[in-house]
Amino acid sequence: MAAHDAKSICRTCPARTPCLVVSIARGEWEGIWGGHTPGERRALVRDAVALRHDVRATVQALEHGTRFPPRPGDFLAVVHELTILGWGSERIGHVLGLDPDTVVRARARAGAAAAVLAAMGPGYRSEPAAA
Ligand code: SF4
Repeated sequence: MAAHDAKSICRTCPARTPCLVVSIARGEWEGIWGGHTPGERRALVRDAVALRHDVRATVQALEHGTRFPPRPGDFLAVVHELTILGWGSERIGHVLGLDPDTVVRARARAGAAAAVLAAMGPGYRSEPAAA
C-alpha cells in the first residue's frame, strides 16, 4: 500500500494518537504508523527532545523586554514555553523577529511534540536511528 493511501486510512482512525506514540516507543522506523511516515516520526522525536532544552533564561529575558533570537536548537522550546505562558503568535513573532505564520507552524509542531513527550514520560530522551 502506498504511503498516501495508508495515511488516508490513519486520518480517521480513532487509535491514531496512541498508535503513533506506541510506534515511537517501540522504535518502529519503517512504514506508516499513526498517520506518520518514518521521516515524520523522526522529526517528531527530534522536536520532543528539543522541547526538553532548558530555555528559562531566554524566556525570562524575553519576558523582561529583551528581544533577541534564541539559539537555533532552542527555538521550538522557547516558542512552546511562551505559548504556555499565554503569549499569542503575534507577540511571540514580534520578540523573536518572526512572522506570525511561522510562529503558528512552530506552535503546532511543539504541541504535537509535547503530546509525544507527555505520553513517553519524563525520562524519554532517546534519538531515533539515522534514516
Ligand atoms: S496504522 Fe495506526 S493510526 Fe493507522 S489505521 Fe492502523 S491503527 Fe490506525
